Amino acid sequence: MSVDPRESQPNPQGSRIDPYVDAYAARAAGMVASEVRALFAVASRPEVVSLAGGMPNISALPLDALGELAQQVVVEQGRTALQYGSAQGDPVLRQQICEVMALEEIDASPDDVIVTVGSQQALDLVTKVFVDPGDVVLTEGPTYVTAINTFAAYQAHIEHIPMDDDGVIPEALEERLAALTRQGKRVKFFYTVPTFNNPAGVTLAPERRHRVLEICERFNLLVVEDNPYGLLRYEGDPVRPLRAESERNVIYLGSFSKTLSPGFRIGWALAPAAVRDKLILAVESAMLSHSNFNQAIVGRYLATQPWPEQIKEFNEMYRARRDAMLSSLDALMPPECSWTRPSGGFFVWATLPEGINSKAMLPRAVNERVAYVPGTGFYYGGGGERNMRLSFCYPTPEQIREGVRRLVSVLESEIEL
Ligand code: PMP
Repeated sequence: MSVDPRESQPNPQGSRIDPYVDAYAARAAGMVASEVRALFAVASRPEVVSLAGGMPNISALPLDALGELAQQVVVEQGRTALQYGSAQGDPVLRQQICEVMALEEIDASPDDVIVTVGSQQALDLVTKVFVDPGDVVLTEGPTYVTAINTFAAYQAHIEHIPMDDDGVIPEALEERLAALTRQGKRVKFFYTVPTFNNPAGVTLAPERRHRVLEICERFNLLVVEDNPYGLLRYEGDPVRPLRAESERNVIYLGSFSKTLSPGFRIGWALAPAAVRDKLILAVESAMLSHSNFNQAIVGRYLATQPWPEQIKEFNEMYRARRDAMLSSLDALMPPECSWTRPSGGFFVWATLPEGINSKAMLPRAVNERVAYVPGTGFYYGGGGERNMRLSFCYPTPEQIREGVRRLVSVLESEIEL
């Protein structure tokens, strides 16, 4: 993917040549807009069914109740809520976060929790604290696109470990770690989205979780477990997060973005004490403190509203959408295609026949009024050409069925070519 950084964005004079190109830090060289961003602007037109974005569907939120809570926060605790706060985050909210994590059998102390601006900031801070330019970061292949961008911004050397329908393949992780150790490489952590992976939709099988933890412990490697979707399960038994199995070596990232709202921008990291202290210092230098106001509203929401019921309501809505997508794919997709069958989360990962390039096909799909994310965005340095991520979180079941119909008609004409 070669994009000339000087041509990435028009400057205020309207020229596409960036006059500051020689001034940027080396780490900014990799910060370029995605090639498909322009197409996504077109894809947001109302006539296009977007199976591209991963926006949570917040239409079921109790807006009146949230409005009242916001007002109460200003009137009843404005003196603290509108003031600077702590870099670690509000202690009351940190206690409530432990109760949320307990739903997934994670046993944690509020002292070890750091509130962050979404789990995205936690990812950024962890990378800032651990990664020097050239250090190796291991991730699943494919993996969350903005994690790749974060690691690249800190000039990590990113390597992917392959997955199958049961998540990352432990033997592949072990082999790669052994090879990197032999080469004397500094491997900093293994970043994983083990439950309802974004973009793959798959979940790491319980027996593999033990293997992955055992391998990482043997190589003295930190695991960064990113779990924003764990509570969004539509069928089957819950799977314990890696952090519920082991406190050692695991930095756990959580978020309210999918179970409440991404607008509050509240996530968290749970880390061993020494790492926690570094992360708190990193928060201070990044932003002094968190928004007390947002934390107070979320705290009141958790204290006064039936939030586990709200999550159940979200899950019913998302289950219907997932079912609409899987049944349409089952009924319509050409036999040469395959796709994953997520039991939670937002995403299906499809594999197209040999010779079809999903990025090249996207303009034709958008012409036919359907959009998806090409698989290449989820790999660093190549891969995913025959894949696409299909999101079922935002469109209605009817729109999803129509979107899949349009997608299949583009795909069929592509196969015939
Ligand atoms: N990790 C993963 C795997 C995600 O899918 C997302 C959101 N798309 C995030 C982290 C960031 O979420 P937030 O910052 O809103 O908590």
